[in-house]
Amino acid sequence: MELKIISSSSAGNCYLLENEKEALIIEAGVRFEQIKKGLNFNLSKVVACIITHEDGDHCKAVQDVMAAGITVYASAGTHNAMGTSSHHRAAITDGTLKTAGGFQFKSFDVKHDATEPVGYLIKHAETGNVLFLTDTYFCEYSFSGLNNIIIEANYSQDILDEQVKLGVIHRKLRNRIIISHMSIDTCIDLLMANDLRQVNNIVLIHLSDKNSNAIQFKQRVEESTGKCVHVADVNQIINFNRNPF
Ligand SMILES: [Zn+2]
Repeated sequence: MELKIISSSSAGNCYLLENEKEALIIEAGVRFEQIKKGLNFNLSKVVACIITHEDGDHCKAVQDVMAAGITVYASAGTHNAMGTSSHHRAAITDGTLKTAGGFQFKSFDVKHDATEPVGYLIKHAETGNVLFLTDTYFCEYSFSGLNNIIIEANYSQDILDEQVKLGVIHRKLRNRIIISHMSIDTCIDLLMANDLRQVNNIVLIHLSDKNSNAIQFKQRVEESTGKCVHVADVNQIINFNRNPF
């Protein structure tokens, strides 16, 4: 299985988990054209699309995805906020296990300024247990038996405060960021609160273009966890199997 990054920023988020036979779309916050291109126009292999919340950078293409016959899973609150009405709309309730192709997934609540935002635990025979966590300033849960982790590392408190001082970021926006997005410190604390023994990859996503430092973030997470750490980049492909070999 491979993780393909279509886009990862506040401009748009979309990730594909795919092997030769099947694909799961995680977030649809880019133009549908980009998603199709990422799939080499092979839409028939897509088993489902899962979405965390209704912000445009996570669901921009949702209507097109459903129009293409792909079932979109999100919380009922998120579906309502997105205004979806197709019969390809599927509501997911926290903790209920759903199956699509060889994938199984369930949602849990996160802390973001949206209607009913969620994170996902995804399972596939090839990837093992995958945590997908973004757009949350904190996570009150810990997870066991993780094999791969995709997690937001949006900003560094120091850089953010410096940007406010310089007048690049308005204080109001700063205050919104810290109650809706995950700092690198919280990201590291959260990772360290989980059993990482079986973890193969940690992928840092949704880095703010103004308030982050990719090299520093990667280094800090590597030092804390001793794991293989990637910072999501456009068109990046990461081997995402349960075991490294
Ligand atoms: Zn976002």
